[in-house]
Formats: sequence, structure tokens, C-alpha cells
Amino acid sequence: MRCPFCYDNNDKVIDSRAADGGKVIRRRRQCLACGKRFTTREMVDDNVRLTVIKKDGSRMPYERVKVVKGLEAALYKRTVSALQVSQLVDEVEEDLFRRGDKEIPSLDIGRLVAGKLRQLDAVAYLRFASVYLDLKDVDDLIAEAEDVKASTPPPPGPDQGALF
Ligand SMILES: [Zn+2]
Repeated sequence: MRCPFCYDNNDKVIDSRAADGGKVIRRRRQCLACGKRFTTREMVDDNVRLTVIKKDGSRMPYERVKVVKGLEAALYKRTVSALQVSQLVDEVEEDLFRRGDKEIPSLDIGRLVAGKLRQLDAVAYLRFASVYLDLKDVDDLIAEAEDVKASTPPPPGPDQGALF
């Protein structure tokens, strides 16, 4: 990427973030010649989108809507807003894009989602984990539930939102 200040063609990426529902990646760059920082926006081409490797080894394009649907099912009748779901998926996509891998195992995505969901709603987390993670039987699920119970923080205070 050519530096807008000194036109040198050498830079390093300092930070990458998914924006606009994962359709745009914003990268913060620093010119290695003059040290100035600038931001670039890249549209995600359908050809370079993430590929998900399923448990059976088959591959399919990553689809945000599938993550959202999985979350909505887990959050059925829970008090988590659509906006919170959308923000959670944005964060997951940011993490995925930051890795830079073109192919990601579905289990990794499930773990990322579950990790964030756990902070949001413990019940929904367990529902999600029972479907998407490799919890093999009821004993696994109970062990996970006890772990959640043991580590559940006190109810969020007013500035908790800043953490997410
Ligand atoms: Zn420069």
C-alpha cells in the first residue's frame, strides 16, 4: 500500500477490524519509511471470503446469517437484544479476520462465539455449547454448567457495556 504522505510502498499493518457486518475490513497501517499512520478500507471480495471447514472435512463459505441463527436459537426467550447479537457477531468476525486464515474449522468459530456468549448469557451459552461444541454427552454438559456456575461474575454494573 502506497503511503499517502511520502509515497513509499512499505508499510506494516497495526490493526485490522471488520466493519459493516464483515463486508469491509479497515486496516490501520504505519509507513515504514516516514512512520506516519493511515487507514485503508478493503471490501471483502466474495472470492476471498472465509471458508469454513466442517467436522466431516467438507468446506463451505462462511455465512454470517448462520452464526446469527445459531445464536438466536440459543437465545430464545432470553433478554438479549438483536443489537447485542449483532455486536457479538461483529467481534467474532473481527477475530476471524485478524487471524488472516482463509479456512477456519467450524469448531473454532463455535468456540469463539461460545466464549463471547458466555459473558452475555450463561443459559444461552449452555444451549449453544450443547449444539455447537464438542460436548459429547450429558456429563460433559453438566460439567460445563457447573464450571459456568462456579465462574459466573456478579451481575453487570452500569459500565459493564464498555467491556464488550
Ligand atoms: Zn510514508
